[in-house]
Amino acid sequence: MSKKSPWHSIKQPVHHNNTNCNTGNNIEKEYYREGTGGKPLCQECAKLNSRGR
Ligand SMILES: [Zn+2]
Repeated sequence: MSKKSPWHSIKQPVHHNNTNCNTGNNIEKEYYREGTGGKPLCQECAKLNSRGR
């Protein structure tokens, strides 16, 4: 399992919580924020989470 506490990019409309998520990993430091930002979970993270990764 690679779940961790949520993070998001201020440039994206979603948040991430899976460290295998490409989109989540490609966030530039400049735009990186901790927490969900009140945004829905990213589709890719949701898929990875449901596969148990
Ligand atoms: Zn994601």
